[in-house]
Formats: sequence, structure tokens, C-alpha cells
Amino acid sequence: MKSIVGSFIALFLCTVLVAQDLPTVTYEIDATQNLDTFAVSLSLDGKLDKSATIFQFASTAPGTYQTMNIGRYVSDFKAFDAKGKELTVTKQSVNQFVISKPQKLTRVTYLIAETFDTQVDEYPIYLMCGSSIENDHTLINAHTVMGYFEGNQKSPIRMRAIGLDGWNEGTALSKVDDYYIADDFDHAVDSPILMGNLTGASTDVAGTKVEIYTYSANDKYESKILLDNMADMLEATRKFLITLPVDRYTFLYFFEPTPPGVTGAWEHSYSSEYVLAEDDPTPDKLRGITDIASHEFFHIVTPLNIHSEVVESFNFVKPTTSVHLWLYEGVTEWASNIILFRGGVIDEDDYLTNAVVQKILVDERYFDTSWSLKKISDESFNGGEAAKQYGNIYYRGSLVAGLLDIKLLELSDGESGLRELMLALVKKYGKGNPISEDTFFDDLADMTSPEIRPFFDKYILEVNPLPHEEYLAKIGLKLEREESGRISITKMEEMTDQQQKLYDAWSMRL
Ligand SMILES: [Zn+2]
Repeated sequence: MKSIVGSFIALFLCTVLVAQDLPTVTYEIDATQNLDTFAVSLSLDGKLDKSATIFQFASTAPGTYQTMNIGRYVSDFKAFDAKGKELTVTKQSVNQFVISKPQKLTRVTYLIAETFDTQVDEYPIYLMCGSSIENDHTLINAHTVMGYFEGNQKSPIRMRAIGLDGWNEGTALSKVDDYYIADDFDHAVDSPILMGNLTGASTDVAGTKVEIYTYSANDKYESKILLDNMADMLEATRKFLITLPVDRYTFLYFFEPTPPGVTGAWEHSYSSEYVLAEDDPTPDKLRGITDIASHEFFHIVTPLNIHSEVVESFNFVKPTTSVHLWLYEGVTEWASNIILFRGGVIDEDDYLTNAVVQKILVDERYFDTSWSLKKISDESFNGGEAAKQYGNIYYRGSLVAGLLDIKLLELSDGESGLRELMLALVKKYGKGNPISEDTFFDDLADMTSPEIRPFFDKYILEVNPLPHEEYLAKIGLKLEREESGRISITKMEEMTDQQQKLYDAWSMRL
């Protein structure tokens, strides 16, 4: 994910069980009855087990690192048997409703407020992970309108989103008759739906079908322009990854003049959702949008394919942290920038200024540098100071990934950096084959060099000043700090053979 905080910085902010015994849940989500609230009804095509007493709303969602407590938005929750008689329901905790005699249940109805325009005292939900209803659009992130019965997270889902006549819809889900089909609750959450007066555009990138749908309140942004603007980025990403790991991908864009909360983007397996301020589409603004798209698109690699067991079987009941947030967000941010440099979309000076110098300045001046990357992940679900420091995963996390790249190049004599390591991880792991939460650092040392192991302790698990000057010098770059605080990075006029070799490997165009 990538969120945008503050005005000056685009502060960059995702068990296989046999399901055939579980009843299919059919949702009707009506956005037309009220401008702030979804009227939801769900029905079952079979019987629940009598142990399925709890209907669970999400406490968080994959890739958000944010406590959400969706139960806060629910009202008028009712459960019915086949004769239409109400079953007793009690609210057990913020996200849990207990239903008496679930084996008799056939239907549930409830109201659930949109997250955009509902005030909450704590844990405000990022807009790109939330829900919205207005006269000309609706945004549905499934965890903000749907839940699941205890033990039935793997139930197949059909859902119909009811919007106004004439609206079009964008989502990565496929549709059968009038219903979107999801394998299970996780798949539904992985597939946001944008409806309304949308523009659309599509293209093909080396066999991958890319679609864009855009809602722009004042028609300032059109899908075709956004797509043209990101064409070079998509091609650079393909070169970096050699082949794109998906055969289709959908970008969902939402622009409004004054978004009511934290804007940014959220990654999914076959799509990403962007909620952004509808400023004038200047070249800078368009570039910023593509930079965020580059970040989200790279998430297909991690955490969507390379992730620990904590992410593999996602716990919607209780937020669970993973120490490998540095990989999911830090490496992703680094990759999304260096892809543009090595792919020839931006030049070296641009890369060093915007992806290195600017990130050093933000890390050192805006954030508390006594927070290690591990502490940022440990505390990621807490509000207050933790929520503020979380944003540094995109700065310090990206800088540490850049240093790791240099160290790996040094240890392999220029043969293999972080890109090559990521490509090796894609081959070795993948969905259904998670990395180990506990032994991953040792496993990385086994895959590369034992000499890399202390790097993880020093710059991820513990907190130490980042050795920018020392590491950049290894690749023949000189970092200088002026009294004014300005930082510059320039190429050394004379490089040793070793520096030249590592510089050539580091700056090699794809
Ligand atoms: Zn991200």
C-alpha cells in the first residue's frame, strides 16, 4: 500500500481447505437506498454447521497494516430462518455478532455505513481501503460491506452490487449473470469494485491485459490519459521481472477534489485501487500517479506472491504483524523507483534526487530515526505515534533495500543484486509456499552470502544510522552534505576498477 500524508510529500503509503461442504453465500449490496449506508442482505444455498455461531466482520485487511474494526459501521443486524422468523442475535464484540441456532439460518440483513463519510473517534480507515456512496459513484471494498460465518471464511461468494441505472463497473472479478463470483471471503476482499460514471481504457503488455477504470468527480482525469502515462512504467516493470506474473490487471482510479481522509493506493492480486485528490493533471501530478501505480503493481511480487505464513492464511479476527514488512513495503518501494531508472524511464540524476536524496531527507527530518524497521512493523496496527511512524516504511524501508542491493552486488562482485534475489525468491516461493516468518533472514543468507546476515540485524531488526556515504562510495557515488542541510549525490570523477565494476552493475539498463 502507499498512503499520502501531508501536503509536501507524496508519503508513500495485501490453508487451502476443501470448500465443497460450505454453503455458497449470495450477497445483495444495495447502494441506492441511502447516500451514506449500504443495505446488505445475504442468503445461503445450504445449511451452516451449528458451530458457526459468530458472524465476523473484519478487524483489518491484508496489506493495510491498519486496525479497521468494520463492526463499528454496522447497524440493524438481523438473522432469519427459512420461515422468515427472526433468530436471536447478540453483539459479542465490536466485530462479532452471535446468532442463536445458525443451522436454521437462511438469511441475514444489516445496514453498514460507508467509511468515507462516517466519523469515527479512532482508527480512521484509509480511503483506498474504505467504501463510498454518492449520486455518481460507489466504491466497494468487500471487507467494508461483507463478513463471514465462523469456520466459513472459505465459503464461495456470489455478490450483486446494486447501483444506479447507466453506471458502469470496474473490478478484477468475473461476472456470471448479474453476480460477481469470488472463491471465498479473501478473494472478495482482494477485488475492489468501483461503480459509477467511469471512463475506461485497456491495453496489452506482452500478453498481460491491462484495464483502467476511472471516476473523476469533475472529469479532470480520463482512463486513456492515465494509461498512456504509465505505458513506459509497465514495460520497464516487465523488463525488470522478465515476464509479468499475471495475465490480467485492473487499475481502479477515484478522484475527488477534497477527499475526506488519507488518500493513497492499495494493492491486490489482479488489481489496485487509488483514491487521490482531483488536482489539475499537471505533468508532475501525472508522474506522481504513475509512481504510485509502479509501487502497487510491483506488489504482485511481494507481498502477494512472496509473503510469510502470517499473510498466507490471513487472520481477519485479530490483526497479526509480520516482521517482513521491510520486504513487502520497503523493497517494493525501492523496486518501483529503480525499475524506472534501470528501465530508462527516468535518468540517473532524477533517480538519485527523488528516490535517494529525498527519501534520506524525509527519513531524517520527518520521522523518528530511533524506530527500527522491525518496530515499525511490530506497532503497525496501533494508532497515534505508531500510525505516524508507519509512513517511514516507504522511506527508510526503501533506503535500506537500496543499501541491501549495493551490499549484495559487492558480495557477488557485481553479479547479483537485490533484483536477482527477488527473481530467485519468485522462483523459490509463491502463493501456497510462504517464506518463514522466523528463519527468512537466515534463508536469505543461505541463498546469497553468510556475510549478509549482520546487515539484517543492523538495519532491520535493530536501529543504526544508515551508512549512505559508505555504501554509495562502493559504487563510485559521492554523497555530500552542505551546511544548509542540502544533500547531493554525484558520480566520482575517478573510480577504482572495483567501483567502476559495481557502478556498471548497479546502473545497468534493462
Ligand atoms: Zn505498498
